[in-house]
Amino acid sequence: YGAPGTNQERTFLACKPDAVQRGLVGDIIARFEKRGYKLVGLKMVWPTKEMAQNHYADLSKKPFFPGLVNFFSSGPIVCMCWEGKDIIKQGRQMLGETQPLASKPGSIRGDYSIDLGRNICHGSDSPEAAEQELKMWFPEGVSDYTKAVDSWIYE
Ligand code: ADP
Ligand code: MG
Repeated sequence: YGAPGTNQERTFLACKPDAVQRGLVGDIIARFEKRGYKLVGLKMVWPTKEMAQNHYADLSKKPFFPGLVNFFSSGPIVCMCWEGKDIIKQGRQMLGETQPLASKPGSIRGDYSIDLGRNICHGSDSPEAAEQELKMWFPEGVSDYTKAVDSWIYE
């Protein structure tokens, strides 16, 4: 499970503090469920400053880093592990561009955000990042269940 290039590819997606505050979590989850992806990990975490710094470690030299860390640790986030074919790239596609102005309507950022520093959601940008971020946010692992809809509708 989790191997990039398979139907069990996995990525880390998160609803940032602004998405939680604005009540957009359900909509974000619904988009991925409706697309056909499988939710295998889900939890709310209020990141410490240290967790935020680790998550965005590759941006630590950027001038906006302190503001980013303050924002990311300003309230709870919703951590998700999603599974399915091409989910790493498709997750990024469904998020939109980093810059809300460049994000097409129909994408999450293009539908719900205006400002770069309040762009609603996070998604791993490569297989390496997905592996590292899933380890960081789900050290306990995720659920390897089989999705079998019929048996949950009919006794
Ligand atoms: P993404 O979230 O699309 O992967 P990055 O990894 O480049 O984008 O940056 C992480 C987050 O930092 C962005 O989602 C955005 O909220 C914020 N950010 C990126 N660039 C800037 C910038 N120039 N000024 C302020 N905030 C920024
Ligand atoms: Mg990034």
